[in-house]
Amino acid sequence: MPEPSAISVRGLKKSYGSFEAVRGIEFEVAQGEVFGLLGPNGAGKTTTVEILEGLRQRSGGDVSVLGYDPAAETMAVKDRIGVSLQATNLPEKMQVQEATELFAAFYSRSTDIAALLKRLQLWEKRAAHYSTLSGGQKQRLALALAMVNEPQIVFLDEPTTGLDPQVRLEIHSLIEELRNQQRTILLTTHYIEEAERLCHRVAIMDEGRIIAIGTPRELQQRVLGHARVEVATVAPMPDEPPADWPAEFPLHFSADRRKATVSAPKPARTVVDLVKWLEAAGAELDDLHIKRPTLEDVFIELTGKTLRD
Ligand code: ATP
Repeated sequence: MPEPSAISVRGLKKSYGSFEAVRGIEFEVAQGEVFGLLGPNGAGKTTTVEILEGLRQRSGGDVSVLGYDPAAETMAVKDRIGVSLQATNLPEKMQVQEATELFAAFYSRSTDIAALLKRLQLWEKRAAHYSTLSGGQKQRLALALAMVNEPQIVFLDEPTTGLDPQVRLEIHSLIEELRNQQRTILLTTHYIEEAERLCHRVAIMDEGRIIAIGTPRELQQRVLGHARVEVATVAPMPDEPPADWPAEFPLHFSADRRKATVSAPKPARTVVDLVKWLEAAGAELDDLHIKRPTLEDVFIELTGKTLRD
């Protein structure tokens, strides 16, 4: 029998007054899966995860987290999940270890705090006041607080927003570590690279709806299908195009005819054909690329928007 889903969402709706922030969404997150909700500001990501965490009431639909309804069985859910909110604000004078111990006291299970702080490179900072921590250290502390109860599901709401690229990479490797430990993770982000790198599957949300769902690779293939193949040669390419070249995928040449690009549904086949053609003509290859569409291309194609506006 397949294992029950860690999270199941059916027809979920949430209105704030007359404004519908979430308009009937559905998804499942399997145990051990890293699932991403990707979307621009205001898409409804935070609303969705906070309903799953038992922090907001839904207006309609069914939700199950580890088999519990977060609206009715809030304590059972809260005890078993870890949450890193978009902004964690602790008292300025609170020390790192003190905060971790305080949070651990809320749960029926707790982890080895020294080991946790060491793993998140916070052990040296254990006596530091919250106000003296850097942005990256605050975010690592937020992750530590989300992990104090050995959670079965970790919710990370925009874990790297506002952090500089170096710190973002650091947080990414910490999340990858959690992924390797087969933790179930639901993360929201508006960074494409983050979703591509960390998530097994992604749901793209826009204006309260899920407009696409799948692995990053599936989404790229389903929506755009074609890759772009680019070849460059040392000398101009032959005037005669390759024999039997399919008319629906025309080759585009640069003005000096040293570069050709083509949109290709089977890029590997296209590369072989192009290389054979150039070899037969005695043209020396200078460069060769296959460019797959990115998740950002998918998002723009589906919504007409960019993610970070
Ligand atoms: P962001 O990336 O900016 O966090 P999001 O996708 O998480 O965006 P939500 O925070 O879920 O989006 O907000 C979805 C919509 O609901 C937005 O238009 C927001 O203004 C609105 N909204 C959120 N919380 C409330 C609230 N408590 N009262 C009224 N409207 C709200």
